Amino acid sequence: MPAPPRGGFLFLRQSDMERLFERVEVLDKVKHKDLRWFCLGKDCPSSCCYLPVSTNIILDELVSLSRHFPLVFVHDGKGWSIHAIFKLSNDKSMPCVHLRPRTGCALGEEKPLACKQYPFFTMGLEMSDGKIYVVPKKSEKMAINMDLGCPGFSQTQGEPVLQDGVLNPYFEENFVAPARTLLNRWDEMRQFVDAVVSNELIRGGKFVYKDEEIPINYVDEVRLTALPRDTIIDFREKGYLRYIYAHLASLQNFIRLIKVKKGSPYTNGR
Ligand code: SF4
Ligand code: SF4
Repeated sequence: MPAPPRGGFLFLRQSDMERLFERVEVLDKVKHKDLRWFCLGKDCPSSCCYLPVSTNIILDELVSLSRHFPLVFVHDGKGWSIHAIFKLSNDKSMPCVHLRPRTGCALGEEKPLACKQYPFFTMGLEMSDGKIYVVPKKSEKMAINMDLGCPGFSQTQGEPVLQDGVLNPYFEENFVAPARTLLNRWDEMRQFVDAVVSNELIRGGKFVYKDEEIPINYVDEVRLTALPRDTIIDFREKGYLRYIYAHLASLQNFIRLIKVKKGSPYTNGR
């Protein structure tokens, strides 16, 4: 596997994600029988849209997200993935570029799956009784996890998380279904990224706009067009060329992030 190129997106820090998932608990039929949730929106004191600078994405959403975010290749020290970039700063007073005053997220159904699932997500193999599961694939059981750091959880307000000992269908449909899609389609994303990396197509460089220089990893078009004919055909048949060109087109969205970083009003909410 080739080493990561020089350059790269600098703002990805594990500590941001840790802040978002500080109080994770596995959903438990007994412990959480009275738990309720609703999104506090603009009244939220710690909106989830202010914390992460980026999120992992899968191929299913790559083309639609390329219209809204810069999509870049990120190496976390262990491996490559593709991230949608929400903002150009770790400043916690600066939200995602698509958060709007009073009305919340401007993307509606086009927001990333990772946003749709929050404050729920699936993780790990849990075998102890009392836990609530999803089954993304045959022979796999994934526990449903919650970030209780989200202030929308309480025992007094909102939709009950459990109904008769099972997950409320409202949460199943709106939160766990996106989480299941992320899990089920992750291997496809992995294969695409591996194909791009193993063909040495990723280049470290900078996105330059006026006086701003953003370090990024992106697909080198010269190397792409120099690939052997059989590899190009294989990429085309798998739809990989479409994903690569969507990734390259998405880089123009850095201009919007740069303009926002230089001065735009923000508000709480989701
Ligand atoms: S989902 Fe986000 S905005 Fe809504 S209550 Fe939780 S942290 Fe706040
Ligand atoms: S929910 Fe919308 S505004 Fe919030 S981080 Fe996701 S895309 Fe951005």
